[in-house]
Amino acid sequence: MCGIVGFTGKSNAAPFLLDGLSRLEYRGYDSAGIALLNNGEIKTEKTVGRIKSLIDKTENGKTVDGFLGIGHTRWATHGAPSVENAHPHTSTNGKFAVVHNGIIENYLSIKEKLKSEGVIFSSQTDTEVIPHLLNKYYDGDLALTVKKVIDLLEGSFALGIICSDYPDTLVAAKKFSPLIVGISKECNIIASDVTAIASTTKDIIYLEDGEFAILTPNSADFFGNDGKKIDKEISKITWDVSASEKGGFDHFMMKEIFEQPNAVKQTLSGRIKSGEVVFEGFNLTAEKVKNIKRIVIIACGSAYHAGIVGKYVIEDMTRIPCEVDLASEFRYRNPIIDENTLTIVISQSGETADTLAALNEAKRLGSHTVSIVNVVGSSIAKASDDVIYTLAGPEIAVATTKGYSTQIAVMYLFSAWLSKKLGSLSDEEIAAFLENVKALPQKIEETLKQNEFLSEIAKNQINTNSLFFIGRNIDYAVSLEASLKLKEISYIHSEAYSAGELKHGTISLIEEGKTVIALACFERLSDKLLSNIKEVKARGAYVITCTTNGNDTFNQESNEMIYVPDVDRRLIASVEVIPFQIYSYYVSLHKGCDIDKPRNLAKSVTVE
Ligand code: GLU
Repeated sequence: MCGIVGFTGKSNAAPFLLDGLSRLEYRGYDSAGIALLNNGEIKTEKTVGRIKSLIDKTENGKTVDGFLGIGHTRWATHGAPSVENAHPHTSTNGKFAVVHNGIIENYLSIKEKLKSEGVIFSSQTDTEVIPHLLNKYYDGDLALTVKKVIDLLEGSFALGIICSDYPDTLVAAKKFSPLIVGISKECNIIASDVTAIASTTKDIIYLEDGEFAILTPNSADFFGNDGKKIDKEISKITWDVSASEKGGFDHFMMKEIFEQPNAVKQTLSGRIKSGEVVFEGFNLTAEKVKNIKRIVIIACGSAYHAGIVGKYVIEDMTRIPCEVDLASEFRYRNPIIDENTLTIVISQSGETADTLAALNEAKRLGSHTVSIVNVVGSSIAKASDDVIYTLAGPEIAVATTKGYSTQIAVMYLFSAWLSKKLGSLSDEEIAAFLENVKALPQKIEETLKQNEFLSEIAKNQINTNSLFFIGRNIDYAVSLEASLKLKEISYIHSEAYSAGELKHGTISLIEEGKTVIALACFERLSDKLLSNIKEVKARGAYVITCTTNGNDTFNQESNEMIYVPDVDRRLIASVEVIPFQIYSYYVSLHKGCDIDKPRNLAKSVTVE
């Protein structure tokens, strides 16, 4: 879900394309490519890895002439990172070339249809259906053909399209993925964000969802949802362009916190159909599911915490015993695993060394393995029997936020999928649960509104050297992640405790002024938690309580209250974690820590 650029002008396109792609590099990517039109022929160049290798391969653009071109940095969602899967993708006759950001949800059915008509595909991407469709419907009128094709696509896309019959025409189209048009006397250009545009022109036009544009060096025509010509307003880039890399936020972490509604939406997209969950190409059969006696979830760090949320939800919905293990412990403890155990491994990067080793160990012992990873084609994805991609987009801040949120979203989907196969819940119950899952992006959005209030609460904590999070059930699972978030970016020692366990030792650490953060969304356990809050309050604790909107059970006993939307309790982690990501961010900010790159930490832990 990375970046696209496009150029039509009175000079060579390659310098803009390569410069634009380099400026989009910060978004993270795995491969890149460009296509230029020259003498009626489209020529493409693609490489895996850094933009530098594309620059070297094309001798800084000198080997690719042409005044019209498109470029792409890919962050794979369908098909591993490779030269054949890198964009631009072309129709078999080479007439059309396309760059695409996003996901075409209905690509499989389109692909099957095109294949039955004799089209030969050369990549595993969802994108490749687009140039083939353009070629199929092309009747000499480019605008009409583009409209016809985008109407057939479901999902999200920002597209740059060129056609060899139109030597100076660049087509841009957008739905749910960002795309900006830049207008100047010398050229008209497109890019996923202003960083790639600002050095060429300050005059930009934002495309809205469903709109498309036909650009030549001297003209820019815009079309609405209904295919009719529309007028668009030109805006001026007046802000600091370097800030736009972070979407106007000061840090990638906050940008990624705010990307969560969309990331979760992407994770769910195309996977809930007619009240049930569909995982395309899954090898785990209903037959095998019926033989599962035990589920083992293996992960490290935040992914381990996502696994704990998963355990609560899976056990509740399927009644299959489920345990969660740290990958580094699992692999060295002679684990009890057999062919009736289902193993789930979770890793954002898909390269976590301990998790990969644990996965191989589980496979060796005969278990069916399902991985939940964010990076397509990663080692864990390749090694597991089945993979469910989280589709969160690249995560740049070391402390995960949208990675975690999309992992738990997959856990909900997988729980519903298992329940259906097992018949542990009725179809109506599963459909109702999935309706609640679908509402989560909106609920997360609502939760994000508390941003400023949390900054105020965080200010009081900057001199704290140790604090506690307590909770029960999924509240406890979330407190583990909340505590880790605070520790990793603000360097404040904190511990997450199951609220009922506190008095078995740790309560001796509670003294006057010690902060205790109580996660109290499970009203079934409200009385119990209230007693635990009273216990620490009586010993001088400063209590911050998080509960659902409208619940006033804890007000009396708490110094501060944080509220989250009232959702299906099985899904509470998705909203409850948000205030603590933001709270940790602000504690870290007020303390002056390096939020995106905390000391001693790496994004992907590829050593034991
Ligand atoms: N879904 C497309 C692919 O996997 C585009 C990914 C992207 O936006 O970079 O190739």
